Amino acid sequence: NWEVQAAVRGPEEVRRLALTLNELSKELKKQEDWRKHLMEDLTHELRTPLTSMLSQLEAMIDGIYEINLEWLQQVYDELIRLTRLITDMEKLSEAEAAVFTVNAKRMDMMALTQNVYRNFQQMAQSKGVRLEFMQTHTPCYAEVDRDKMIQVISNIVSNAIKYTDAGGKVILGVDWTAEYTVVYCLDTGIGIGSTDLPYIFNRLFRVDKSRSRFSGGVGLGLSIVKALVEAHNGKIEIESELNRGSLFRIIIPNVYKSLDPLTWRYEEY
Ligand code: ADP
Repeated sequence: NWEVQAAVRGPEEVRRLALTLNELSKELKKQEDWRKHLMEDLTHELRTPLTSMLSQLEAMIDGIYEINLEWLQQVYDELIRLTRLITDMEKLSEAEAAVFTVNAKRMDMMALTQNVYRNFQQMAQSKGVRLEFMQTHTPCYAEVDRDKMIQVISNIVSNAIKYTDAGGKVILGVDWTAEYTVVYCLDTGIGIGSTDLPYIFNRLFRVDKSRSRFSGGVGLGLSIVKALVEAHNGKIEIESELNRGSLFRIIIPNVYKSLDPLTWRYEEY
């Protein structure tokens, strides 16, 4: 039994301690549930393709099927995808632990975002997508973990290019207020329908499994992004319309406050 009963009549200190312990045990329970669901999802994600590959391999060994090069190529692609899944799972668990390892320094978010923009020019060009940066001359400072923030913005921009067809456009820019810095990324791509939109940050979620499989996604990128943004005490928002495009906003407080582990909440499953 996780519950620690508060001594109602006890000294104030004991009562407060009991409340804290209650809070902590609830948090541990939540994390435990979260891990359980994660394992279930992952098991499912691994078992389905492995079972089908195994049964076909067995049929070949038994001489029922002939060895087929096209099939071997499919197996190879699937194994690459599963390997990527494992790598991304590692990244996700790192991102979730990041709440305790944010190395926040004062950074010019305009310069940082522009760097990401430069890094993706090549990818956009080779896809025939126009990538633009809304340049303003004012630097805007926020306390962020440089590597983690680059990872967040890169992920969003890479998705925007990936899910926009040739001839489309991706616009990257930064807005700020006294309290927040907002990095936004607008694309004129395929968009996300309103029924899929609420699940977009859930791990292993892909709008169209066959399409994403082709483009190599495993549906973990955005859940990693969300965990990293939350580790900065920030949030991420999306507006999207099918066949018109999407707008992502990464909203980061200008001053970094480390989170109190007791009040830190994992997403509800
Ligand atoms: P993936 O690795 O599959 O791209 P993500 O977690 O990065 O996984 O994204 C989850 C899903 O959200 C994608 O499979 C895709 O269907 C959808 N998505 C993400 N970004 C965009 C975008 N800019 N435009 C349209 N769909 C998007």
